[in-house]
Amino acid sequence: MKIGFIGLGIMGKPMSKNLLKAGYELIVCDVTKAAVDEVVAAGANRAASPREVAAQTEVIITMLPNSPQVRQVVLGENGLIEAAKAGSVLIDMSSIAPLVSREIAASLAEKGIEMLDAPVSGGEPKAIDATLSIMVGGKKVVYNRLHPVLKAMAASVVLVGDIGAGNVAKLANQIIVALNIAAVSEALVLAAKAGVEPELVYQAIRGGLAGSTVLDAKAPLMLERKFNPGFRIGLHIKDLTNVLETSHELGVPLPLTAAVMEMLQALKADGLAGADHGALVQYYEKLAKVTLAPLA
Ligand code: NAD
Repeated sequence: MKIGFIGLGIMGKPMSKNLLKAGYELIVCDVTKAAVDEVVAAGANRAASPREVAAQTEVIITMLPNSPQVRQVVLGENGLIEAAKAGSVLIDMSSIAPLVSREIAASLAEKGIEMLDAPVSGGEPKAIDATLSIMVGGKKVVYNRLHPVLKAMAASVVLVGDIGAGNVAKLANQIIVALNIAAVSEALVLAAKAGVEPELVYQAIRGGLAGSTVLDAKAPLMLERKFNPGFRIGLHIKDLTNVLETSHELGVPLPLTAAVMEMLQALKADGLAGADHGALVQYYEKLAKVTLAPLA
């Protein structure tokens, strides 16, 4: 099967390489030439625009930063919609607003083009290992047909519902991760200020009800002062912006998400937009005038 792949960044590059390894023929496109050169060197063919990708393929994957870029690539000038054939499928794997997924799918449907929204969780290491978690929205028949393509990049692929449902699941994921990181930060800073070793508090509680994947992933990095990304604060702000816009549109107040969003905004104002989201602990450290561990 010949697949188009647009958006060869931190995530798209390893994901596209895994599709090549699985034996799929790829036509790739990105505004950054170096990214395209790298994936072409691994065996893909290049196209000059999304339109050209669509002209040569019937399944097209996009892995772009956010809603405006997906709109541009699909519906804009030289976009996919100009050349995509009826019956072809767009799989958008970017994390975007679910309402935008639905709008784009509706425009594509007018031309008989199908769409799945299929955002991922797991970050670059799991993109490299092909062990991502993929949450999918769309028609079951389209999902069933393209399941093997998604499985070539993932450990887990779950159809959550109709179009937009994948991105709703991703927003839920991002709420839970952000609030967990804030809770871990709040708790460990309290321990440090109380004069109790945060590392030992972490060891004492990780097997109990307070234990979580987030605690195990982020507490050690906070204690070692490792704040290189990972998942950047700037990207988490992008996702929580989509969370809050979607929730307000639907009439759902999210007081805790709004509070954590402002903490991330404060860190961005401090120049930390490029740091890992585990750097949220620094917000609490500044308030309490204590650090979890001496800076290395
Ligand atoms: P990135 O910024 O590294 O990559 C985006 C790529 O899209 C870049 O190569 C850029 O040149 C390209 N691009 C932008 N506009 C384009 C256009 N108009 N036409 C063609 N190419 C264009 O981002 P990333 O980290 O790979 O993330 C991609 C998506 O995956 C985002 O929605 C992000 O939230 C999500 N995500 C990221 C992670 C992570 O850990 N990085 C984890 C899960 C999900």
